[in-house]
Amino acid sequence: MIMSVGVIGEMVDYSKFYQRLKEGKSQLTERLEQLRARRQPLGERREGSPFGKREEEASEAFELEKRLALEKKLRNTLAEIDYALGKYEAGTYGLCDSCGQAIEQDRLEALPQANLCLRCKARQTKDAKGAR
Ligand SMILES: [Zn+2]
Repeated sequence: MIMSVGVIGEMVDYSKFYQRLKEGKSQLTERLEQLRARRQPLGERREGSPFGKREEEASEAFELEKRLALEKKLRNTLAEIDYALGKYEAGTYGLCDSCGQAIEQDRLEALPQANLCLRCKARQTKDAKGAR
């Protein structure tokens, strides 16, 4: 495998992104721990006013749903970060998974765990239209 960093010949310092990924990972792990810890007491609150009960249950279910959605999102991001960290270890960080070109610096600034360049991402999004 050819590991060229930067197509235009410029050497890019990816260590700052590595740092940000590490930080992002520990933050995400922490948040997931918190979400998991908060899930416990749910269901214990059986009593309540007889009138507000149904409403309360509905909002609890909604809360739970929201929390699960958030947890799923965090987990996905965590997986992306892990993947990007793995690429960094392998020396392929910053390269597009699809076409092998260097991913735009601006894009990495905004999303250090990006694994596709803008063009491939746009194509993928277009292909997957309607899927989400
Ligand atoms: Zn690409």
